[in-house]
Amino acid sequence: MRKLKLTREEIKRVIKDTELDNIIFDVETSELTSIKAGGRALCYFIADKMSDLKKMIETCMKNQIEFMVIGDGTNILFSDKYIDLVLLKLGRDFDYLEFSDGNKIIAGAAYKLLKFVVAAAVRGYDFSDLSGIPGTIGGSVMGNSGSKYRGICDFVERVSYISKKGGNIREETIGLSDDDFGYRHFYIPDLIVLTRIVLNTGKSDRNNILEKIASRIKNKKLTQPVNVKSSGCFFKNIPGCSESTGELIEKCGLKGFVYGGARISDKHANFIENFDNSSSEDIFILSKIVKDIVMDKFKIELEYEVKVVGF
Ligand SMILES: Cc1cc2nc3c(=O)[nH]c(=O)nc-3n(C[C@H](O)[C@H](O)[C@H](O)COP(=O)(O)OP(=O)(O)OC[C@H]3O[C@@H](n4cnc5c(N)ncnc54)[C@H](O)[C@@H]3O)c2cc1C
Repeated sequence: MRKLKLTREEIKRVIKDTELDNIIFDVETSELTSIKAGGRALCYFIADKMSDLKKMIETCMKNQIEFMVIGDGTNILFSDKYIDLVLLKLGRDFDYLEFSDGNKIIAGAAYKLLKFVVAAAVRGYDFSDLSGIPGTIGGSVMGNSGSKYRGICDFVERVSYISKKGGNIREETIGLSDDDFGYRHFYIPDLIVLTRIVLNTGKSDRNNILEKIASRIKNKKLTQPVNVKSSGCFFKNIPGCSESTGELIEKCGLKGFVYGGARISDKHANFIENFDNSSSEDIFILSKIVKDIVMDKFKIELEYEVKVVGF
């Protein structure tokens, strides 16, 4: 006989019984994302230790409790509805950076990408193509984030992750091949949580790299609304299209278009801003309007770059 799904209260009881620390029930998801919109989620758990992370995952899997990993929430939009999810966040033991011999750099998945790019530059490693991108290295690899020049996966040699292969929860380490990633895309079938990333790149003059980083960040500030609540680019660029998605949206005359508390940025049309206490519903409806208008004008189906959850 199929096991019945647990109720909310039963799930909370099962999670309390783990006796793990750092658990918040009925968490406000708007506090966990850069776009600052969204309703409550059943549980938020920060795993400071690998053993705690494994215990929570095992508990969820055994009891058919749905869960999702979050980094810094700079590429996620949660719905306004109550979401029956356990949100897993990597804490203390996953927040580190190590430099080893042979141009290898090892980062815990919770380490911030912004800090990483500068720390690497100080030692002569050039990751300036990844300058100015908020969030964690783990989140960055999961979406192969980057610039028009390169994505982070171009620099990733190996990753460690919590795997669910054969129903067993254990950490695996694998080398990456080009088949594992593409434009804003990374996929390992049995991956549950990315924990550790080994990156590699050549060395060059550190002052030159630091100058490149400063110039990329300056340019980003000029062309993107970096100090406004947003989730970065809302839609992916279209492979093979000579124009960026921002340019397509701009050509539809949508810059500055407002729906409720949400607005298409005046600076960059692929950014949706939460400029006035927007609900997630406003942001989502605005994204649908953009999709419809772009489809009408260019016969192009836009795909979300932002992970929309609970809609
Ligand atoms: C102002 C601004 C500018 C931005 N500029 C850029 C840019 O130039 N280029 C670009 O590519 N992006 C950009 N972004 C988007 C975003 O910063 C990146 O996608 C970032 O890498 C996401 O990292 P995160 O830690 O916030 O991930 P989150 O948003 O928390 O998560 C993103 C996805 O990764 C998954 N995930 C996160 N961590 C893990 C993990 N350890 N294991 C398994 N899954 C995980 C989540 O489940 C989710 O599906 C920008 C965003 C903002 C707000």
